Amino acid sequence: MTQIGFIGLGHMGFPMAQNLIKAGHAVTGFDIDSAIREKFGAAGGVAAISIDASCAGAEAIITMLPSGKEVREVYLGQGGVLASAPDGALLIDCSTIDVGTARAVAAAAGVNELAMVDAPVSGGVAGAEAATLTFMVGGSDRAFERAKPVLEAMGKTIVHAGGTGNGQAAKICNNMILGVSMIAVCEAFLLAERLGLDAQKLFEISSQSSGQCWSMTKYCPVPGPVPTSPANRDYQAGFTAAMMLKDLKLAQAAAKTAGAKAPLGAGAAALYGMFVEEGHAAMDFSGIIRLLRGPEQERRNAADAAEAASAGAADAGEVKVGDASKD
Ligand code: NAD
Repeated sequence: MTQIGFIGLGHMGFPMAQNLIKAGHAVTGFDIDSAIREKFGAAGGVAAISIDASCAGAEAIITMLPSGKEVREVYLGQGGVLASAPDGALLIDCSTIDVGTARAVAAAAGVNELAMVDAPVSGGVAGAEAATLTFMVGGSDRAFERAKPVLEAMGKTIVHAGGTGNGQAAKICNNMILGVSMIAVCEAFLLAERLGLDAQKLFEISSQSSGQCWSMTKYCPVPGPVPTSPANRDYQAGFTAAMMLKDLKLAQAAAKTAGAKAPLGAGAAALYGMFVEEGHAAMDFSGIIRLLRGPEQERRNAADAAEAASAGAADAGEVKVGDASKD
């Protein structure tokens, strides 16, 4: 059993911390949201009222925070992790943040003689709940070996991506592929719609052909072909459009700094920017198909669906009357 401090118990952090508890670790969690702290206490964790309290006695301290700004505050601020961590504690940041902040915070930890890894994840809330996340880890060989058994309680695939910051580099490269491929799949299904090609037929063909990709086979942006995809629940997230925009912006900033060309990544960032500005920040990122389809077609499709539903209800009503008369 390891004593673990866990800071940031949101959509991802909460189930990750729960899996650590299930694996037999003692977890003291902190979140700025008091309702979340209470929920964590009720779910078998120890709820701390400050960063300092969550770090007390910890052999490992894990953070799962929204962005680089919070990571800087939580690690470097007054009463923060670097000021509170016991000697020899291992620091693991699982948030998705910019490479520069990851390297700066790890360097500050090094000054305090604390080992740190960046370990962002892929797999979403479902992966966090099922303990099947993929961790992309940046840091020294020694720090990686120490982090691995802790991460194994929350994930299935743990990859050492290289030195400090390389976990974040892997994450933004992966999510740039994801953002671009999701838009490409949406465009293909919309073109099929206009050409009179059934979505299920396109799926059957493309999922077995060279157009096959995760955005199609696991997260198909139209209802039907993949029953578990957010398209079947009105694009309820999942992974929000706001989070995708954040990651695409991180990739663009990194590409600019590194002098790498990424024009499709830039296009994807612009489209997700429009989608979020239209008020869809909390919608699943696969909902971008609605932006591409356009408001008029969306209205027509909704009217068709409503008509089909009321026709179905009328049919069901007839059956009910018939059934009742038999009683
Ligand atoms: P979230 O907003 O649900 O959770 C973040 C939590 O951090 C919140 O509960 C918030 O109250 C807490 N917090 C914020 N500032 C704090 C502070 N100063 N001290 C303590 N707690 C603080 O976000 P999430 O969806 O859990 O995502 C967390 C990170 O994981 C993000 O960096 C995101 O990009 C990344 N990520 C998310 C997903 C996903 O599907 N949601 C997938 C992969 C990676």
